[in-house]
Amino acid sequence: MVNATTPRVRFCPSPTGNPHVGLVRTALFNWAFARHAGGTMVFRIEDTDAARDSEESYNQLLDSLRWLGLDWDEGPEKGGPHAPYRQSQRMDIYADIAKRLQDAGHAYDCYCTTAELDERRDVARKAGRPSGYDGHCRDLTAGQVEEYRTEGRTSIVRFRMPDEAITFEDLVRGELTFTPENVPDYGIVRANGAPLYTLVNPVDDALMEITHVLRGEDLLSSTPRQIALHKALIDIGVSQRIPLFGHLPYVMGEGNKKLSKRDPEASLNLYRERGFLPEGLLNYLSLLGWSFSADQDIFSVAELVERFDIADVNANPARFDLKKAEAINADHIRLLDVKAFTEACTPWLRAPHANWPEENFDQAAWEAIAPYAQTRLTVLSDITANVDFLFLDRPVEDEASWAKAMKGDPVALLTTARAKLADADWTSPEALKAAVLAAGEEHGLKLGKAQAPVRVAVTGRTVGLPLFESLEILGRDRSLERIDAALAKLAA
Ligand code: GLU
Ligand code: ZN
Repeated sequence: MVNATTPRVRFCPSPTGNPHVGLVRTALFNWAFARHAGGTMVFRIEDTDAARDSEESYNQLLDSLRWLGLDWDEGPEKGGPHAPYRQSQRMDIYADIAKRLQDAGHAYDCYCTTAELDERRDVARKAGRPSGYDGHCRDLTAGQVEEYRTEGRTSIVRFRMPDEAITFEDLVRGELTFTPENVPDYGIVRANGAPLYTLVNPVDDALMEITHVLRGEDLLSSTPRQIALHKALIDIGVSQRIPLFGHLPYVMGEGNKKLSKRDPEASLNLYRERGFLPEGLLNYLSLLGWSFSADQDIFSVAELVERFDIADVNANPARFDLKKAEAINADHIRLLDVKAFTEACTPWLRAPHANWPEENFDQAAWEAIAPYAQTRLTVLSDITANVDFLFLDRPVEDEASWAKAMKGDPVALLTTARAKLADADWTSPEALKAAVLAAGEEHGLKLGKAQAPVRVAVTGRTVGLPLFESLEILGRDRSLERIDAALAKLAA
């Protein structure tokens, strides 16, 4: 028996498509809830739909959870007392339980054809009656069954809903009641014998002794059916308890529309490829329906675990705000120690992200410039453009930046600056600054105006990391060479 004080939660995605933020938010809330309470996180794969499920998607799910650091105590590759944790490997269990439910009268064969169901639904709708399944096959006589079979009809298995209201205390939304006319009998096994989500999901929650089901609001309508099924499972001796349910609020995207898993900004891979830190993304996603405190929205995963309580989840829809996600990620980038930052960025400075030959990468130059870059990034992939001047043979060519910086008499300014820089102390950014400042003074230019042509000549860009530190790290020869190249271009 599970101790009543240690929750067992589950994350049970279907392996279809790419992982999306809604899915990750569900995983995160379950994980934080389990870790906070010292409970158990069960990871189950709901792969009973062979037509839609894919091995690629399955592998991506595992990889995504690992990247995020959301570990599980029971599940794929880990095993556990309720293995296997892939539903495709549990088909015998479902067949057995479906039969026992049927033997006990909790389910029955339904012979209605789709056309008949559609027709009766239309009639009910027109008459203003509830339009769900009408119970037609609930109590067929042996004779009727015989007749249907002779006609060559096939049957599905339908669960018999109790004729009474179902009330439960949602952990997020409080007490909810569903009346019988809104929750008709529903299919649990297809005509070909394949069990449906409606059966396998609550059956596994029961067998795996799940205590709390935390999932998206889109599944709320299945909860009264599942509670009824849990009661039936208790009745046939398969289970001892009904789990508690908590439905996490919808996540709204652009234009206040529900964020769909097909929206590009919903794709987890996108955030990963842009160089979100796992802790930055988790911090942001935890705020979709929950808050850490009134005056703090940056926190570590450990702090999240320490504070997380499902009772604090807000039932109102949450809004997905990319700008806020980025700002939070930028804060997490700043919180890294320099060494961790340097290492985290490195993949973006190598193939396939880098636009310079692999052998041009210079670890020492990177380590020297990294501290100046850390405060400037929103996502790690921003690093490539910020430091490419160090690794490209020639700075990027951007005509707009060039035109913007090379105003007035850039030849005169650059010629003077080059001469003064050539005589300066290249181990001191202050000395390099003094050289450019002095060159500007000779031509009546303030530092900002004087350094713009130098920056574009050396880095190709009008904005970037602190210029004089950049020059020092690039080195005297390469810097002067680039100023010469710019002068040659201006003369042409
Ligand atoms: N496999 C279901 C889904 O991905 C799980 C729903 C649930 O959490 O009950 O939608
Ligand atoms: Zn029927």
